[in-house]
Amino acid sequence: MSEKDMSVKEKTLFGKGTANPSNIMPQKLTLDSKIKFRCHPGVKCFTACCRGIKIVLTPYDILMLKKRLNIPAHEFLQEYTTPVYLEKTDMPGVALKLREDDDNKCPFVTPEGCTVYTDRPSACRYYPVGMADFHEGQGAMGEGADQKDEEKFFFIVKEDHCKGFEEDKEWTVAEWRADQGVDVRDEMNKEWLRLVMRRKSFGHQASLSEQAKRMFFMSSTDLDHFRRFILESTFLDTYIIDDETVEKIKNDDVELMLFSFKYLANALFGAEGLSIREDKIQEKVKEIQERQDDSVTQSIQDYKDIKAARGEEIDPDL
Ligand code: SF4
Ligand code: SF4
Repeated sequence: MSEKDMSVKEKTLFGKGTANPSNIMPQKLTLDSKIKFRCHPGVKCFTACCRGIKIVLTPYDILMLKKRLNIPAHEFLQEYTTPVYLEKTDMPGVALKLREDDDNKCPFVTPEGCTVYTDRPSACRYYPVGMADFHEGQGAMGEGADQKDEEKFFFIVKEDHCKGFEEDKEWTVAEWRADQGVDVRDEMNKEWLRLVMRRKSFGHQASLSEQAKRMFFMSSTDLDHFRRFILESTFLDTYIIDDETVEKIKNDDVELMLFSFKYLANALFGAEGLSIREDKIQEKVKEIQERQDDSVTQSIQDYKDIKAARGEEIDPDL
C-alpha cells in the first residue's frame, strides 16, 4: 500500500492533527461529557474500520503485540509492520502492514473480530474519542508540561460508515476511555508522543543526523536491541546510572521502555535526566582541545608555507 493510500484514513494517535478534519465534530468535550456509542459484533459495519487504515504503532503497542504473539521484536517488525515517518517529521516509525491481497485489511482482523483485541494498538482504542494535541509546542518535554496536560480536551471523530453512533449506549468520555484501556496507554505513550511532537514543533529549522534517526528507530521499535545497546556497549561507562535502574533495565521491559524515552529526550533534545560521568566529560574536553590544537598547528604551518612560497620573512615567534 502506498503512503498516499495510507493517508486517506488514519486512526488518530497524535491528536486531531492527523485525523480527517471533516470527520471531527466541532465540540470540545471534557472527561464528564456524555457520548452515545457502542461497538459490538452485532453492528452492520463490524470490522469495517479494520481495513484501509494507517495504524501507527507506539513502542508500548509493539511491546504488547510481540509478547502476545510470542515472537522477538525484529520478527514482529518484519512480519507485521511497514516503515512510516511520524507526524510528517523526519522521525522514523512503523505502522501495521495491511494485507494488500485481502482488501487492505489489518493482519489481525477476522470475520469474528480482532484476534489481538486485549492487546490491540493504542490507535484502535482511541476511536471515536480523540484527544487534543496537548503535547504540541513549547514546554512539551519539561517545564510547563504538566500544565499542558491539564489543558487537554476531547473530541468525537465520526466516520460515515460507523454505525456505532446509532446504538443506545451512553457513557461519559472518562467511562469510555477506562473501558477501552486508553488511560494506561496514554501513560505508557505520553513521553514518546512528546518526543515526536517536540520534533514536529521544530519544523524544518533543524534536521536530525542519520545516527540520531537510527537511534530513535531502534529504541522505539526494538527494545531487545536497545537493551543490548545499554548493557553491551560503553553506555554504562559513560552515563551515571544507579544499580537499581540497571537491574530494572535488565529485567523489566516496561522500565526499559520508559528509560529509552528518557535517553532519547536527552540525546536528541538535550533534556535533563541523564548525566555523563565526570571522567568521560574530561576525556571529551581533552579530545576537543587536542583537535583544536591540531588545527591551530596546521593553520600556522599553512601560513608559514605561504610566506615561504612568496619568499617573505617568517616571524620567528610563530
Ligand atoms: S488491531 Fe484489531 S482493532 Fe486494530 S485494526 Fe487490527 S483488527 Fe482492528
Ligand atoms: S465502524 Fe464503528 S461500529 Fe463499526 S466496527 Fe468500527 S468502530 Fe465498531
